[in-house]
Amino acid sequence: MSRHLLILANRALLGNTRLLSVLGHRNSIRGGTSRIFSRFYSIEGSGITQLWPYQADTRSIDFFASGFSSKHYMPRPGEVLEFLNKHYQFPRKTQDKSLFRIRCPCCRPHKRGTLYTAVINVQKGLFQCESCLRKENWFDYIKLVSKSDSFQVLSTVDLSRGSKTEFSVPRDTIEKYPNQLSEFPIIVTWCKTEKGLTLDTLQDYKIGAAKYYNTNPSNNAELSTDKGQVCITFPRMAPLFLDPQATDEPITKTVRIKACEIGSGDLVAFDPPTSEAGLFGYHLVQSETETIILTGNEFDAMAAYQETKLPATCLPNNTYQLPLEILPLLERFAKIYIWLDDDVAGQEAAEKFAQKLGINRCSIVKTLGGNLNGPVNASEALASGKDLKEILRKAKPLEHEKIIGFDHLKDAVYRELVNPNQVRGVQSTDLPGLNQILKGHRPGELTIFTGPTGIGKTTILSQISLDFCRSGVSTLWGSFEIPNVRLAKKMLQQFAGHELTPEEFFQTTEKFQQLPMYFLKFFGSTDLTTVVDAMNHAIYAFDVQHVIIDNLQFMTADQGRFHDRWEIQDRTVGTFRRFATERGVHITLVVHPKKDDREFLDLNSVFGSAKITQEADNVIIIQRLIVDDEEIRYLDIKKNRYDGTLAAIPFEFDNESCKIRQLTRNEHDRRAKGSKNKTRQETEMVPIINQNAGENRNLNINQQ
Ligand SMILES: [Zn+2]
Repeated sequence: MSRHLLILANRALLGNTRLLSVLGHRNSIRGGTSRIFSRFYSIEGSGITQLWPYQADTRSIDFFASGFSSKHYMPRPGEVLEFLNKHYQFPRKTQDKSLFRIRCPCCRPHKRGTLYTAVINVQKGLFQCESCLRKENWFDYIKLVSKSDSFQVLSTVDLSRGSKTEFSVPRDTIEKYPNQLSEFPIIVTWCKTEKGLTLDTLQDYKIGAAKYYNTNPSNNAELSTDKGQVCITFPRMAPLFLDPQATDEPITKTVRIKACEIGSGDLVAFDPPTSEAGLFGYHLVQSETETIILTGNEFDAMAAYQETKLPATCLPNNTYQLPLEILPLLERFAKIYIWLDDDVAGQEAAEKFAQKLGINRCSIVKTLGGNLNGPVNASEALASGKDLKEILRKAKPLEHEKIIGFDHLKDAVYRELVNPNQVRGVQSTDLPGLNQILKGHRPGELTIFTGPTGIGKTTILSQISLDFCRSGVSTLWGSFEIPNVRLAKKMLQQFAGHELTPEEFFQTTEKFQQLPMYFLKFFGSTDLTTVVDAMNHAIYAFDVQHVIIDNLQFMTADQGRFHDRWEIQDRTVGTFRRFATERGVHITLVVHPKKDDREFLDLNSVFGSAKITQEADNVIIIQRLIVDDEEIRYLDIKKNRYDGTLAAIPFEFDNESCKIRQLTRNEHDRRAKGSKNKTRQETEMVPIINQNAGENRNLNINQQ
């Protein structure tokens, strides 16, 4: 630990670039402690390009997504010039340090005069052309220059047959839900004793009760056997201006109901599955209100409101996503307190959202206030008798200069040091062996996924990505080999656990569509700049945390001549490596192996140069071992930069669910013993993960 801080302390003596290379180097040579270093690198790097402000694509999936960007948004330091460089705009200096002369993307070249008819303010991103008199803000300028019409991001809604946008019951019934609260004193009592919320607060927020079927995508309950249950209902409100004479208060209407389980508060359903933009508690905003609190969930919002008397709302989707369509609802506020969980994931999201909303008007609330233990959010703080006003008073803005500064890094590093378990990442439900070996799915990493042709790389990756997505990891698929519809169909079967009958289709897709899963679609070019533009767009618009590129060879197929194919692939992998680090997303890249007649693949079997596996944090190879007539397959973890644990997970494929299932040690040994003579491959193989032992220290592992 002292060594880490020493390096940090030396930061003042080093230029940023130097620090980056130092950390990057340490990152590449060390296994065990690389996590800390990679996060430094990430935050430092993100100061340059994080939150590339891409305009949402108006043809995009959500028919109501407006492609909105906040006018409070300020480009990050260096962002404008970085963009100009990346898109070969060759800006020219002027007398004014903040103004650069550039070509106008709209004007045709003049017969004689200069092409450089426009100026851009590199601090604010404002663009103005003297020839065509066009004036654009930063977002619109990006749209003019980047190739945003050459890709589209699809959601699960686009790939199944549309989605229900109507309430499941008449609107009158919906509006009466709050009246039914008195019929369920258990709700009121529970909110009071467990959460410290008063009846007044519940009534202010129009909390109600109603019966709902479970359509929560992370819940594995079979839909057909689910008879519905009485839930607490939380309305999402949207402004509705009808009669300006009647009142000067904004009038609101209910646009969506979130139904949660009594007792746990777990999500049961959204009604309707997709709706126009609305926010919990938005009706509490008065016309003169200039301040709002944005929390992680409804209980936090109500706790914050009850104690501070400020209107408080929460993220709309039960995930760390701030959809573009709700930005207009927040545009009117001069001050926004972002009050998410005070842990690694929550604070990372808070910083991203502050940038999305405009850092000048956002303050980040830290419930722990620097303490190691205690309540991490507003609801817990209320339940444990903390002074929420005092916690709010200590909220601090995310300062522009601090984003890349020492204080900020120190905070982030400290957060990770005191929460080592949170840094382990999101756990797999389907494949516990992955958790034992890789310890979790983390942001900022690059995973290489390979295996022989036809062994089912895409199918397995589809299952793994779906698994993490169900735990709330917003996921983007770039499938260059298999059409999106076929991929989504496979994913839907994996989601349901069996092939769907037409009768089941609608109910299952309703649940499936709640997942934060997105698919890239390209029109023509898939060159690296376009793919990176599309990834940037998806991160801005959908807060994507996991990007899957399937696969490297197909993506780069039509680029360059044959002899520099390896160079193109190296450059692509290098770009993805930097992207993962700088943007804090996990990238999984499928790579075909070299033609190799050995049955077992190793790091050298990955196609391309050694650089590809050197750049990766994790390398997973799907292996096949043939023992007499029987074939055993393995997920073989060949590289693990997080803690070096290497092992293989034996699995079998289940046709019904289109998923793989991990074999137990006994199942594996029984099958492997079919062979009397141990094959060469078997003796060379990495030890199999020992699932019967369970504990990590009993793992039969091979430290790097
Ligand atoms: Zn012009």
